[in-house]
Amino acid sequence: MKDDADSHGHLQDSTYDLLVVGSGAAGMAAAVVAACKGLSVVVLEKASVFGGTTALSAGGTWIPCNHLARAAGIQDTPEQALAYFKFCGGDRLNEALARRFIDQAPVMLRFLEAHTHAKFSYAAGRPDYRPHAPGAAAQGRTIHPLPFDARQLGTHIHRLRPPFRELTFLGMMIKPGPELKHFLNVLRSFESARYVIRKVLRHFRDLLVHHRAMDLSNGNALIASLAKSLFDHGMHIHTDTEVRQLLVDNGRVTGLVASQQGQLITLTARKGVVLASGGFSHDHERRQAHFPHTKRSQHHWSPVPDSINGDGLRMGESASGHVDLGQAHAACWAPVSRVPQPNGQVTIVPHLIDRQKPGFIAVTKHGFRFVNEASSYHDFGQAMITACANEDQVIAYLIADHRAIRRYGIGAVKPAPLPIGSHLRSGYLMRGFTLEELAQVAGIDTKNFLETVAHYNQQAKLGSDPQFGKGSNIYNCYNGDPGHEPNPCLAPIQDGPFYAVQLHIGELGTLTGLAIDDKARVLNAQGTPVPGLFACGNDASSVMAGDYLGGGATLGPGMTFGYLAACHAAGQSA
Ligand SMILES: Cc1cc2nc3c(=O)[nH]c(=O)nc-3n(C[C@H](O)[C@H](O)[C@H](O)COP(=O)(O)OP(=O)(O)OC[C@H]3O[C@@H](n4cnc5c(N)ncnc54)[C@H](O)[C@@H]3O)c2cc1C
Repeated sequence: MKDDADSHGHLQDSTYDLLVVGSGAAGMAAAVVAACKGLSVVVLEKASVFGGTTALSAGGTWIPCNHLARAAGIQDTPEQALAYFKFCGGDRLNEALARRFIDQAPVMLRFLEAHTHAKFSYAAGRPDYRPHAPGAAAQGRTIHPLPFDARQLGTHIHRLRPPFRELTFLGMMIKPGPELKHFLNVLRSFESARYVIRKVLRHFRDLLVHHRAMDLSNGNALIASLAKSLFDHGMHIHTDTEVRQLLVDNGRVTGLVASQQGQLITLTARKGVVLASGGFSHDHERRQAHFPHTKRSQHHWSPVPDSINGDGLRMGESASGHVDLGQAHAACWAPVSRVPQPNGQVTIVPHLIDRQKPGFIAVTKHGFRFVNEASSYHDFGQAMITACANEDQVIAYLIADHRAIRRYGIGAVKPAPLPIGSHLRSGYLMRGFTLEELAQVAGIDTKNFLETVAHYNQQAKLGSDPQFGKGSNIYNCYNGDPGHEPNPCLAPIQDGPFYAVQLHIGELGTLTGLAIDDKARVLNAQGTPVPGLFACGNDASSVMAGDYLGGGATLGPGMTFGYLAACHAAGQSA
């Protein structure tokens, strides 16, 4: 049986082999693999567009020992990967699950590359996030989806979640790595200018003809390629379809109830239900219970779509699934800023590529630095939480001088030649013609701030940062500016005017989730599988014990456990 959508695309009460809740990478991997293995499957998506947070993401996918890096001559072994897991996860690590991930992630990748439209390349030179740890890789474990031509999706393209506008140029996606470098060098290199002009002209043509970007990359390309594969098998993604409840018969999950356009539909599952609804980023109650800073105030800003509010965890618990609270961190923390929009709304933008560059520092409102600004978003976020432990709100300021923000941009502010006036007018970007004035405008302790900048500048001129070590490891430097010497992450903040953007604590997704076993089956509090119920992606507990090991540390495990759920449902031991 393929799909029981009637002629209007509505679902009817019916039976499938596998029911998948959520259309992010984890759910889509489970669905596509199930379809490839001959199961009937349907994906149910609460939002009006499919793709979840994955479609907004950079699409980095962390797969140790993958064949793409090996083909490029990069050595990696399961023992090295496990040593890295053990170092980062410590006593909290579920070693058996980590071994399973290390063993099966490369198998999942090969399967997708062989049987679906999803294709990847390894990110040359991109190191793991803790490069000094035993078993860390200098490159090879993070892979990226290859670009995907949206025309292949036909009319479904209009149901694909568009990328973050603030992280694009007029809706055009920019791939991390060499393509981003071309954009940052557009005023400096003829080759980069030519690359950018060609890409922009192609994009304008797509905007005229299709009213959107068609040259998909990053998480958008990943979701589009998996969706195309699912559609090729005759399976469907039902958007605007919210799963409300699991059906449990004698302890076994037998189906679910979903709501579509005000109608309740009962779907029965022969092999099981996969919870892949993206975690609990917008579940205020669970946030308050598990995020340390929200115990003082609800001040937390997530760039994750609003539809992700803990449904999977709640439904899993209702079927006697157990939420694993043993994680070091309940979420993958990230500094974010709040960008006022002309319509009065506010967009949340994560700071992923600015703070590592030369000429940027972060300070608290007391005017002190508190972190190596080039550390990962997860580590930066942790440091923000610690630095503001006695404050009501977790807030810091990203500071740069004129040269730095025109060269690299800051948050939603794009580099030159794009104008900055609208951000100054909205108050998003704060400016002072002197450092004193900036401190006063931003509300930062002036005396401490001046001392902090003077001290930082003295060392930055020499290319060193004895206080926090910005630019002291290969991960820092990868995200710095390779053309800047002597340290790609350090430059004095000296050429006014000076700028600040207020940073808030946020996250890129949650890490606390349902306990699962090596087949992605949800476990109850006794550690026994709940029959008929699987979880993957951020609905499942992080295999990294709440740490974040490298670029793609949620998508890699999410897709791997989605793959394993599908294999088990298909009766094939993977
Ligand atoms: C800007 C940004 C960049 C990022 N870059 C990376 C990266 O490069 N690599 C990486 O690993 N991670 C990255 N992340 C994090 C990553 O995107 C998420 O952790 C990941 O996409 C979660 O995948 P998922 O499949 O679990 O859920 P999602 O992709 O979030 O999908 C879950 C879906 O379930 C739907 N849903 C929720 N409730 C219901 C319900 N009741 N019924 C039906 N559907 C429901 C939601 O609407 C959503 O569409 C990034 C995040 C952000 C914000």
